[in-house]
Amino acid sequence: MSISPHPYPNPASALTLRLTRLYERGLLLAFSLSPLVAILYLHHFQADVPRFEHHVAHELAIALAIGVSAFVCYVTLRCYESSGEAFLRWLTLGLIGFTVVYAPHGVLTRLSAHHLDWFLLYGPASRFVMAACLLRAAMLYGEAPEPRCARPRARQWAGWIGLFLGVDLVVAQLSFHPHLLPLPVRPVFEACAILFALAAAGLLLRKGASAPLILVTAIALGMFAQSSVAFMLSSAWDHIWWLAHAVFASGFLLLSFGVVRAFHTTRAFSTVFSQEEMMRQLYVEKERAESALALLRQANADLRRLAATDPLTGASNRRQFMATLASEWARARRERAPLALLALDIDHFKHINDRHGHPAGDHALKTFVSAAAGLLRPGDVIGRIGGEEFAIVLPGTQAADAHGIAERIRHGVEALALDIDGVPVALTVSVGVAVSGPSCTEPGDLLKEADRRLYEAKNAGRNRVCPPPPA
Ligand code: GH3
Ligand code: MG
Ligand code: MG
Repeated sequence: MSISPHPYPNPASALTLRLTRLYERGLLLAFSLSPLVAILYLHHFQADVPRFEHHVAHELAIALAIGVSAFVCYVTLRCYESSGEAFLRWLTLGLIGFTVVYAPHGVLTRLSAHHLDWFLLYGPASRFVMAACLLRAAMLYGEAPEPRCARPRARQWAGWIGLFLGVDLVVAQLSFHPHLLPLPVRPVFEACAILFALAAAGLLLRKGASAPLILVTAIALGMFAQSSVAFMLSSAWDHIWWLAHAVFASGFLLLSFGVVRAFHTTRAFSTVFSQEEMMRQLYVEKERAESALALLRQANADLRRLAATDPLTGASNRRQFMATLASEWARARRERAPLALLALDIDHFKHINDRHGHPAGDHALKTFVSAAAGLLRPGDVIGRIGGEEFAIVLPGTQAADAHGIAERIRHGVEALALDIDGVPVALTVSVGVAVSGPSCTEPGDLLKEADRRLYEAKNAGRNRVCPPPPA
């Protein structure tokens, strides 16, 4: 089965397709990097002391971020519980880590004037923790779902929360440590967050650039990296600092959009497909369904044929022959047309079996049927009624013609040069002929009459035809 890259009608030329794809990628890249333009613009042009030190605005922003983060964290956890995707486990951990480590940054807003380092350090620390978890998530993206028994239980999640609370304590320690204070702790955290976020984005794009949720996640990671750049260029309360919050929030909202999309579809990031991928899969499934249907139709036709055919001779079996006789009978009635029936029985067939063996008898039966069928017209049907007894239905045939056909068959069989293991074997047949008339009220009557004449032919010495009496 060949899979076309464009299974749906797409009249565009290869060049246009390539150009539009390139444009699409460029568009996404430009969109992803647009915050950087604003960051660099502000960095160059903002006045020396333009500050917006508004504690309530900051507290509200952080409270909103923590609330949204907790909600997205819950939805991500539900997705993970449903799909077992390792990527989602680490995304959940990243969101828990961010929520727990970032919260003190909001709580300490009013202490910022006196404990600026303490207040500020929770931001980079939370981004560092989240980016590290997202990098781990990206490393595990595409792996087989984790079995239920291997998934963390409540105690292990609680352990992780404990660990993140520990990070809060370490951050507090760092901020008050006299020897560490002069060191660039914040830039180091931010730089690591940038590296982790970019590595995670690169890894995800390499593994699943065609999956739309992965694209969304990669763009969100790009936003996180740019927000860290902005935080590095900022000082507390200046415009770049606020912009950095906004850029991070954009990335966060984008990521949460991915989570909600996953929740509403397959609950796994790796199995939400792009439209192109879905069209391709649809095409593959359609092809598969069509070929399965063709096989099924063929199998049905074979079955029908097998159910209607005598396997040894290829003639219709008794059941099929009786059905044909009934339908020809009805047609003859409808069209007021004549209908004839021949009953045939091979003479002394038992001798052939006894003298030459059963396989030779089988061979004789096959030869008989192919010879008789070769002498029939299209529309005549031969059936094996049992053993070496056959019947032939002759639609639209008068008594005289039926007699003629019977004689032709008798002659033809007699003339067969049947050779069994080099020994010539004589084969003859006796035939009884019946035609529909006033004495026949149903198809079975026709068969009985032809049978009666067949026995008359046998009694008359075999190898002969017993026709119906002249009307
Ligand atoms: P008659 O001229 O009176 O019809 O004699 P006959 O020997 O042909 O008739 P009889 O009914 O005594 O024997 C029919 C034989 O056909 C008996 C049976 O073993 C044989 N026979 C029936 N079906 C098959 C078959 O499928 N293959 C073979 N080789 N023989 C079969
Ligand atoms: Mg018989
Ligand atoms: Mg016989």
